[in-house]
Amino acid sequence: MNSIRARLTIAYAAALIGTMIAFAAVLLVARKGGSYNELTSHVATEANLVLTIIRQAEAAGQPVTVTKDPVVGATITPTLRTLLEIIPDYVIVLDTSGRNLYISNAVRQLDDEERFQLQIETMSAPTKNVAKVVSIGGNRLLLVASATNDTHSSISRVAVALTTQDADLAVRELVGTMLITLPLLIVASIVIAYALAGRAFRPVDSIIDEVKAITDGRSLHRRLPLLEEAGDELGRLSITLNEMIERLETSFAAMRRFTADASHELKTPLTVLRADVERAMSPTAARGEKLIALEEALHEVARMSDLVESLLTLARADEGRFDLHREPVALEPLVRDVLETATILGENARVAVSMPMLEPGTVLGDYVRLRQLFLNLVTNAIKYTPRGGSVEIKLMNQEGIATLSVRDTGIGISAADLPHVFERFYRADRARSRTSERGGFGLGLAISQWIVEAHGGTIAVRSRLARGSTFTVTMPVLDPAAAPMPETSAEPAA
Ligand code: ADP
Repeated sequence: MNSIRARLTIAYAAALIGTMIAFAAVLLVARKGGSYNELTSHVATEANLVLTIIRQAEAAGQPVTVTKDPVVGATITPTLRTLLEIIPDYVIVLDTSGRNLYISNAVRQLDDEERFQLQIETMSAPTKNVAKVVSIGGNRLLLVASATNDTHSSISRVAVALTTQDADLAVRELVGTMLITLPLLIVASIVIAYALAGRAFRPVDSIIDEVKAITDGRSLHRRLPLLEEAGDELGRLSITLNEMIERLETSFAAMRRFTADASHELKTPLTVLRADVERAMSPTAARGEKLIALEEALHEVARMSDLVESLLTLARADEGRFDLHREPVALEPLVRDVLETATILGENARVAVSMPMLEPGTVLGDYVRLRQLFLNLVTNAIKYTPRGGSVEIKLMNQEGIATLSVRDTGIGISAADLPHVFERFYRADRARSRTSERGGFGLGLAISQWIVEAHGGTIAVRSRLARGSTFTVTMPVLDPAAAPMPETSAEPAA
């Protein structure tokens, strides 16, 4: 039984059967108690009636006993006997020495031994209307005895007994009814419970079928139908699964795009490389031409290895396999170093690079990666700024946050491109950047973003087309108490 439906039904059936048995037991005990109580009060009333009849006779001064036969001894008077014969049950009246003064017709039907046994039970029975069940000749009798408590009376106690057959029969009838109805009720309830559980779990089956149908990346566009009762557990399950499928769809699409873009980016330099090699190998090509072809091939190989390096970085980052060598890194010398490279690049591109603000600050990070990040931003700024433009680098340290901003007066990024610049392989102007000398692969900012996030920082961009862009990186600075600050100069460099 490995379905929840079956397990629920079994649990329900067990609980139901247990409850029914407990209920039946309580009902039987109550029914039996009720029947015996009724019988006891009936017998007690009769016993009291017998006693009252005799007492009234005594009170009126009438004789209660007569002695006809000296051997048999005294018996009750015929008048009283006639009165007592009205009571059809087992009636015994005992004199003060415990001998029978009167026995009813029912008692007379018993054999001697049974009669004697009933007499003994009468003598030993409690006398305060407390019933006693006695077994006489295979019959169960309920016996109630009453005593006179009168020393002048000629009788000591009377007892009335009645067979418990009727009371027992009522209980037996109840047991019989229960034995027929309870199993039927239980079976009907289990069938209903099984059907209801099946109904309740039908949506689960449909969810399972739907999820099974979404077997590969191509069917990830499918969604589970939202059930009517969207608020219940199954509704919430569908919503959660749909959200998960949506996330999977997004990451599958990104993965596919990434693979397609990577192959595409590799295809171009490979084609160029092939053409260059073919040119260099051509027997008709002049020596100078061959050298140019080989130089071009070398350039393409360098580009390809850059690309492969970047892809490897991102792949490792995705897998979380990229260990950062964290150490306290003083930002000021690092930025100065980046500025030096930027100045050389700027001179070549006729772009003025300046650093109007340089506040010292230390972060816990990977020196090499941080340098890569800053260089990325600065080279981008120079790359996308036409001749005569300027690039400004600022390093600030305020309230425990180090902020590096790189502002350029370059071509800027359109509002449509801006949200995508950190995506892998995204280039605002693909044709231009690929054909231009420094055209990148659109991976630099994706790597920059990964480096910033791995350092617990943020990266943001503000830009206006044809006006320029500002990239801002923030990072928490290391608590000066936690690590000694390396010597830094607070002088701003221009
Ligand atoms: P690339 O190697 O193409 O520069 P990046 O990931 O560094 O790749 O940048 C992605 C795209 O963002 C670039 O292709 C470019 O269109 C745009 N971009 C990045 N930096 C700047 C900038 N300073 N000014 C204008 N556009 C920029």
